[in-house]
Amino acid sequence: MVDADQIVCADVMTRMDLFLDHELDDVAAQEIRRHLGRCQTCSGEAEVGTAIRQAIKRSHHPEPAPPALLERVGSWLRDQQLRSAS
Ligand SMILES: [Zn+2]
Repeated sequence: MVDADQIVCADVMTRMDLFLDHELDDVAAQEIRRHLGRCQTCSGEAEVGTAIRQAIKRSHHPEPAPPALLERVGSWLRDQQLRSAS
């Protein structure tokens, strides 16, 4: 049996920045979240990355969300509405 959820630390490290910036698709992000749940090394990296991002955010004035993100959130909301309507 092949466990498709098994990704290795190298996979996580390569995609860590994308993950922390929420630029991964749901499936990939879920894989990484699962890995972080059982891997201290990677979850430590994720914590550091998150802390860095928060520090950067605090040092900048809040910027409006980019249109691409708004579009993504909008389609996600439409998706949820469709799902709850059916
Ligand atoms: Zn790991």
